This record gives sequence, structure tokens and C-alpha cells, in this order.
Amino acid sequence: MTVPTYAGRHNVVPGAYRGVAVTSVDCELDEPSLQGHFLGLDAYRRTRFIVVRNGPRTAIVGVAKASEEPLFSPITELRLLVGPDECVYLREPEVDTAIPTALALASLSSAPGKRGVVVEGKYAHVSFILDPEPLRVTVREVVPPYPAKLLDQARRVLATAEHLPPMELVPEVIELEDLALTRPSPGYLLPCRGGGVSVEGATTDYLDEHPEQRDWTLIGCERSQQIHEWFYGERAEQVDICPRKRVGGTGAILAKCCLLEREVEVDRPADAQVVVVPWGASLAQISEGLTRLAEEWEPTWEPA
Ligand SMILES: [Zn+2]
Repeated sequence: MTVPTYAGRHNVVPGAYRGVAVTSVDCELDEPSLQGHFLGLDAYRRTRFIVVRNGPRTAIVGVAKASEEPLFSPITELRLLVGPDECVYLREPEVDTAIPTALALASLSSAPGKRGVVVEGKYAHVSFILDPEPLRVTVREVVPPYPAKLLDQARRVLATAEHLPPMELVPEVIELEDLALTRPSPGYLLPCRGGGVSVEGATTDYLDEHPEQRDWTLIGCERSQQIHEWFYGERAEQVDICPRKRVGGTGAILAKCCLLEREVEVDRPADAQVVVVPWGASLAQISEGLTRLAEEWEPTWEPA
């Protein structure tokens, strides 16, 4: 058994909080001093990491033991993973330390620039993250209604996602009114009242109320256009609001599409991967979409 270096890896988080022990020492927090202190001491069967504190200073070490069979076994190897100059100990009682994204977001907001961040969080559990660098995921959505639904749902999924690498959501939210203004018209037709939009000097109608046809521009998706054709026998002037149709952007992108009902699809424009979920996606479908992005952009990530 030997202790990995984790060199060159980012977003290193322990797989289970029970692998992390917390201990206070009187010795210096450099590797030789910590080896002098810990080698030969018994450690619990599951302990693979020790958060070592000396006053306000904190270091994180990895340890190997003679055996993982008995309940306790002597420490045979110790490696300093991050020393006190680059490490910080946070008390964040609202943070669930079993969630990689929660650890990363706490470290970015409360300890930016630190390589090692220990978090004492909810239930008084202690865990840590080394070299936090969450995957940035652009979320494409339109508003109103507020809050931007896909963004809000993705946040809620990540807040409980133990299996996903840390992710940081980057909103790309466009106002329907701004889309309408790109196509001046005496009147606008919106899919429903939920998308409460009004443009000064223009009439507003709602497709789901099947209004008398007049001179209007549809602010809607392809599905709304199909309904328009069904109702009125022709397609309308249209500003297509479907987030899937947006062009440009690089990296990991989450979008939704009016025409998808159950499946999650993947588009691959240059330098990007766009995972597309149904317009009315469930949290499970959004979880599936984020998992697909993780497989593409963080294929080797796994809890340490
Ligand atoms: Zn669409």
C-alpha cells in the first residue's frame, strides 16, 4: 500500500467522509515533522487522509497503513498533500461536504486561490478539496418566467449530486423582450401568459388562448410554430427562442429544446459539447444531462 501523490489532478475530494480524520498536533506541519509524529501510530481501518491542525494552521496528509483488515493498524507511510501556507480550514455549517460541487463552491467563495480547502460543514462532517477547479457549464435559458427554470433546476441537482465532479454554472439567460425587439412588429404572439412579456406600442396575444389571427410576430419555439400552423393554416413570422438553436460558445453547454419530449441529445459544434434536455425536463433528465457533460469533460475524475 502506498499514498498517491495526486500530482497534476484537480478537484480531488475524498470518496467518503469517514476516510478523513482530524487531529491536532504540537509539531511543525512540514512533511518530515509530520512523519516523525505519525509513523507507527495506529490509525482507524478506513482512515486515508488526516487533516492536521496546529493552532489556526492546517495541513492535509495522505497515509498508508500496514493493513486495512484490522480495525486499527500502524501508519507506515505519510505524504504531505498540502502544507499550511496553501491550506485553510473553513467552518461552513450549511455546506454538505459529501457533495463535490458544494465543496468547490465554498472554497471558491471563501478561500479563493488556496490549493487545499478543508470544510467543516453540515452535521459537523469534515472533508476537503485539493486544487478546486470546477467544470464551467454554460446554461442556456430564456426568461420569463422567473427564476430561469433550467438554471434553477441544474443548481438543485448539483446541490445533491454526490457522483458528479464539481461544476460551476454560468448563466446564459436571454430575455424574451430583448428577442422581440430584434424583430419590430405591430404585435407579438407568445406561447402563453406565463411568458409575461409586453413591448410598448405593440399588441400581445397568447397562442394557447387561440386568439383571432392578426398581424403578429411569434416569439416562440418550433413547437409553437407547429401549433400556429395547425390553428391558422400557415406559419407565422417568428423569432425562434429555442436555446438549442443558439450558436457560438465553447466548452460544456446545457440547453433545452421544445421538440424533445423524453430523450437527452448531444450536439457537437466546434469546441463545444451541447447537451440538450427536453423543454419540460425533470430533475432526473437534467442529472442525466450533467452526467453526460462530466463524461465528456472530466472523464478521469473520481473521488479519491
Ligand atoms: Zn427546440
